[in-house]
Amino acid sequence: MTEQTITREFQAETRKVLDIVIHSLYTERDIFVRELISNSADALEKFRHQSLVEKAEFDAHVPLEITIDCDDKRHTLTITDTGIGMTREELEVNLGTIAHSGSGEFWTRLAEAARKDVSIIGQFGVGFYSAFMAAKKIRVQTRSWDGGEGHEWESDGGGTYTIRPCEGLHRGTKVILELKDDAHEYASKFTIERIIKQYSSFVPFPIIVEGKKVNTVQAIWSRSKNEISEEEYTEFYKYIGNAVDDPLYRLHFSTDAPLSINALLYVPRENFEVLGMGRMQPGVNLYCQKVLIDQHSENILPEWLRFLKGVVDSEDLPLNISRQALQDNALVHKLRKVLTRRCIKFLNEQAAEDPEKYRTFWETFGIFIKEGITTDFEYRDDLAGLLRFASSKGDLVSLPQYIERMKEGQDTIYYINGPSREALEMGPYVELFRQRDIEILFTLEPIDDFVLNHLGEFQGKKLVSADRADLKLPETTTGQEKDGGAAGPGESLPAEEAGALCTFIKDALGDRVNEVIISTRLVDSPAMIVTADGYLTSSMERVLRATSGDEHLAMSGKKNLEINPASSLIRKLSALRDSDQDFARDVTEQIYDNAMIQAGLPVDSQKMVSRNYRILERMAEEL
Ligand code: ADP
Repeated sequence: MTEQTITREFQAETRKVLDIVIHSLYTERDIFVRELISNSADALEKFRHQSLVEKAEFDAHVPLEITIDCDDKRHTLTITDTGIGMTREELEVNLGTIAHSGSGEFWTRLAEAARKDVSIIGQFGVGFYSAFMAAKKIRVQTRSWDGGEGHEWESDGGGTYTIRPCEGLHRGTKVILELKDDAHEYASKFTIERIIKQYSSFVPFPIIVEGKKVNTVQAIWSRSKNEISEEEYTEFYKYIGNAVDDPLYRLHFSTDAPLSINALLYVPRENFEVLGMGRMQPGVNLYCQKVLIDQHSENILPEWLRFLKGVVDSEDLPLNISRQALQDNALVHKLRKVLTRRCIKFLNEQAAEDPEKYRTFWETFGIFIKEGITTDFEYRDDLAGLLRFASSKGDLVSLPQYIERMKEGQDTIYYINGPSREALEMGPYVELFRQRDIEILFTLEPIDDFVLNHLGEFQGKKLVSADRADLKLPETTTGQEKDGGAAGPGESLPAEEAGALCTFIKDALGDRVNEVIISTRLVDSPAMIVTADGYLTSSMERVLRATSGDEHLAMSGKKNLEINPASSLIRKLSALRDSDQDFARDVTEQIYDNAMIQAGLPVDSQKMVSRNYRILERMAEEL
């Protein structure tokens, strides 16, 4: 070892990944070849673009290509590219640390997921390390395009790596793998050619194995649709999306005006973010005349479309535009607008064409659409058309569909949040809707109310949560409403008595309720909590509780308790008020707690249980 050799420890996360790769992954080892070839292709793309931005002097004549050498005597596999290369500092950062800022838990989850599907390793910027599945030792010799000194990195995948200067290198990177005893097959040219055919046929640079070019360099997105087979489309998706499965949707289109665009975009099947894997980086690459300008571009699509994979090529962009300049480029803004509109239109078309398939999309990626509605004002209204909810009349209902089915005189879209359809259908909030045959959307995710609140209205119809105190349902003639409400007038508590009962209940509950009022909306249930606050509905309160992680959040909206004068319990309570005040208070408190629970709001469970025992005891006495 020379003086300039340094030995460093891998960053803790890297060690974890190495540990996963070396000790837990036994399936689909082939993919490491793909990962290394992708890295080489990326390095070549970067060089090609860099040399357009800034003239490269050093090794300018060296052709852009990937060369693979197999030595089945020494059991080594060598992958060489003439790409951008790495400086010493870059080597240390790129092959010693991991860019992904995941928590410890993230890596544990990744380990579990990778055990089932090794390809996801590549999704998290840790592809290089997958080579340790097959190699007992890896050397990386590299020299940056700037012509500075070359270096060699070496590691056996244990805790450390070394870097030392290395003479006589050309521009680019050579990765030399000393194969493990059980991985000698990767020094066979047939194995390598097979893997390249399977995974890397779309690499846009020549791949030369043992002196022979094995791929046809092509830009699939610039070919015409009818020349491309299904297999090619799928293979390209796998290549570009680092995926092993088929895509869910594919959108291939080109436009001439207002911009010339060739785009090939895919919706994957899996949403890694919901698997708790942290935020994905955008998956669409920007090309200009088939030259990669911006990989994982953050500029050409809004953030909420980060689940898409694919390529966008626009000849109108200046070839030598730098990545920094993309952000402020007016053409890029225009491109982004056209692409976003097209994607929304595409999803709408797909939803109309095959609702069941759209359901799969919605269940997997709906969360991104909701994110778009709350974060991207520009597309808010267009995106709202893609929303789907369960409702009292269906299970994949769109807002336009709801509007179409609205009753005469109805100018509002109603929704109510709850844990499940069953819970909502049993609860008090939907009673009057059922009676009047008015559709109500069931928002089963806490985030939904936040989204609908944000949206405010759709196609001129207000969106209103059904737990609001000021709810006014239109009178309809189609429902099964009996005269004068659910109970005949004789069965209902007389107004005066009901008023006195309200005062009694308010007195018993004190500040916990804003007002106690006689309900005009309850049909069967004795009581319910409604929100007197304009914004902070019960479900919004639940969202806040869930997101703040604070069960006993001090913040709570003003609530009214509505009582149903036709309910026999309420009528009995009214009588009880005169005969047994203490017991009447217990019953009141219990009714309040029950209503809180039905609103999904927290109650003091200890108090509730002891009260409940008192009530049970009293009942047992009476029997
Ligand atoms: P990813 O490629 O997903 O970023 P990797 O672990 O495969 O993650 O590689 C880490 C980084 O190392 C790359 O982002 C790149 O900067 C650098 N790198 C890897 N291989 C090469 C190569 N052949 N030429 C230049 N840089 C490379």
